Amino acid sequence: MTYVFAPPAVASVGITGRADAFPVHRVYCVGRNYLDHALEMGGSGREAPFFFQKPADAVLVPAPGATADMPYPTLTSNLHHEVELVVALGQGGSNIAAADAHRHIFGYAVGLDMTRRDLQNDMKKQGRPWSIGKGFDHSAPLGWITPAAEVADIGSAQIALQVNGAQRQRSTIEKMIWSIAETIEKLSQAWTLQPGDLIFTGTPEGVGAVLPGDILDATITGLAPLRVRVV
Ligand code: MN
Repeated sequence: MTYVFAPPAVASVGITGRADAFPVHRVYCVGRNYLDHALEMGGSGREAPFFFQKPADAVLVPAPGATADMPYPTLTSNLHHEVELVVALGQGGSNIAAADAHRHIFGYAVGLDMTRRDLQNDMKKQGRPWSIGKGFDHSAPLGWITPAAEVADIGSAQIALQVNGAQRQRSTIEKMIWSIAETIEKLSQAWTLQPGDLIFTGTPEGVGAVLPGDILDATITGLAPLRVRVV
């Protein structure tokens, strides 16, 4: 096969302790998956899970131990952070039962579902798609993936975000409304999942704005940390 121009590079994420990288197929995101965040966004907290996507090449991954520079995006004056657990799939499938979901998981990372909140809110008001608020360039920073076998108990891990050393978000993974397994079950009913899919599983309360020059430190117990500088 030849192409009329060079095909794009495969987006990828580093894996702790491995030389090989994780090739990204799709980036799925779950909306409103922690009660206190659902409430701060004006929801009831009792909704079925809902999903949106970011382009695979929106991932922004630092070199090992380094800081990832995220350009402040165009068209916004309200860029928000949402720290999230990211599930990386090593096996695909459709109609995956929650009880079997763990077999499809390659590993976990900490990520940031960066959001142009002003644009998202405008689109919501007009009943239009959120894509411009969520799926922009570099909107999915994430740290290196830790293989699932090396993660002791993701279900009880702490998740946190500091901006310039001050705590903005802090919660535990067990406060997710829809568990990792239930999320994979529901998502796989809507799309055929593939190896290389990433799932951003929703953010806890405390989302807020960042500005150029800010340093974001995202952590989840047992996973490689993520540091992003907005430039
Ligand atoms: Mn989110």
